[in-house]
Amino acid sequence: MADKKDYYEVLGVEKSAGADELKKAYRQQAKKYHPDLNPGNKEAEQKFKEVNEAYEVLSDADKRAKYDQFGHAGVDPNYGAGAGGYGGYGGAYTNVDIGDIFGDVFGNFFGGGGSTRRRNQAIPGDDVDTNITLTFEEAIFGCKKTINVTRKETCSECNGSGAAKGTTAETCPTCRGTGRVRTVSQTMFGAMQSERTCTNCYGTGKIIKTPCKNCNGTGQERKQRSITVNIPAGIANGQVITLNGQGCHGLKGGPAGDLNISVTVRPHAIFERKNFDLFCDFPVTFTQAALGCDIEVPLPDGSKEPQHISDGTQSGTVLNLKGKGVPYLNSKGKGNLYVRIVVETPTNLNSRQKELLKEFDAIASGRSYEKRKSFADKVRKFLGAEE
Ligand SMILES: [Zn+2]
Ligand SMILES: [Zn+2]
Repeated sequence: MADKKDYYEVLGVEKSAGADELKKAYRQQAKKYHPDLNPGNKEAEQKFKEVNEAYEVLSDADKRAKYDQFGHAGVDPNYGAGAGGYGGYGGAYTNVDIGDIFGDVFGNFFGGGGSTRRRNQAIPGDDVDTNITLTFEEAIFGCKKTINVTRKETCSECNGSGAAKGTTAETCPTCRGTGRVRTVSQTMFGAMQSERTCTNCYGTGKIIKTPCKNCNGTGQERKQRSITVNIPAGIANGQVITLNGQGCHGLKGGPAGDLNISVTVRPHAIFERKNFDLFCDFPVTFTQAALGCDIEVPLPDGSKEPQHISDGTQSGTVLNLKGKGVPYLNSKGKGNLYVRIVVETPTNLNSRQKELLKEFDAIASGRSYEKRKSFADKVRKFLGAEE
């Protein structure tokens, strides 16, 4: 066509424009005139075609060189031929990936699927992230929990086809269902072949004339599901349980995503946990510590473990109850339970009690307080050495 516009003019760039500049200009123009954003607007459609054609030529170094040298005749075999009228590019679009170019605009426009939605290939479902709060004991011993999740599933009305009940998605006539279009044209420089995403079906290979009302043609719907989860014994705060294939369903035969469950474990009133070991303080009276006694250490499962405190046990002494800790996650064995004996100094004494303690203290010898005696000796030597 003799009145073809200059490709550089169409994209609004200088002849010296680099690849990035071209792409940017193309994005801007193509977004502006895209048929999906200008439904029924013939003028926009025509402009869109021009923009695509210009970019197809200018983004290809070889074609651009020919265009720069010979003008339209260099890249369009029918240019100026007269009889053919509308040239080989009449309905053509570029071989650039439309999804790639439009990913950012259409990601939301088409309901979150993003650019990949436009290609005729299996698309994996998204992962679903959720969380669960467990009691200390549930985490240690494991449990079964039912959680409610919302995920995208294959539409139950249309079975994922996106076409309304009673209708089917038709095979795209332009690309015969392949999603790709190949054009071969004879030019004065020989045969030129190019392949591109089919713009009639956006690469899906299907045309939906009457979209399913339930899913608006997306082929998916949101569903609430109750899912029973086996919480393994030994799970810890902050860990994530992954259930493969329990996330959103895939599209076009793609695999489902995963369900990721972040675990929060509530603290315990008595026990503290570090990895697979448990820690707790056990207060005893100073008489118990001095004379020795039997105690019953509580265990996380609610049972009690008898332990003997020998006479003269010091505050801070730690008992190690081996294998009474947390089960190793997904393996055999358990951590330990460390019980720290804490001697409690008596308070709120009455006069009789004070009297008895004073009496005891008066007759207690240095041998009863070896730490104190040894410390006093060290202090004496230390101060003596200073002089
Ligand atoms: Zn549907
Ligand atoms: Zn097609």
